[in-house]
Amino acid sequence: MIVQCPTCKQAVKWSEENRYRPFCSERCQLIDLGAWANEEYRVPSEEEDALSDAYQPTETKKVEE
Ligand SMILES: [Zn+2]
Repeated sequence: MIVQCPTCKQAVKWSEENRYRPFCSERCQLIDLGAWANEEYRVPSEEEDALSDAYQPTETKKVEE
């Protein structure tokens, strides 16, 4: 089964060996996670803005299943 990497649109073989599926590599996985983080960060509500001083963004997110 071939899927498209959501980050770089490269064709990726979906297999048990590919631990980063549906991404082609760890790099693309991290880019995608970063994109989501930026998306959240870019749209602060007024309430969240008031708490921004105390807000500590997580450097790395681990996705383990
Ligand atoms: Zn990729």
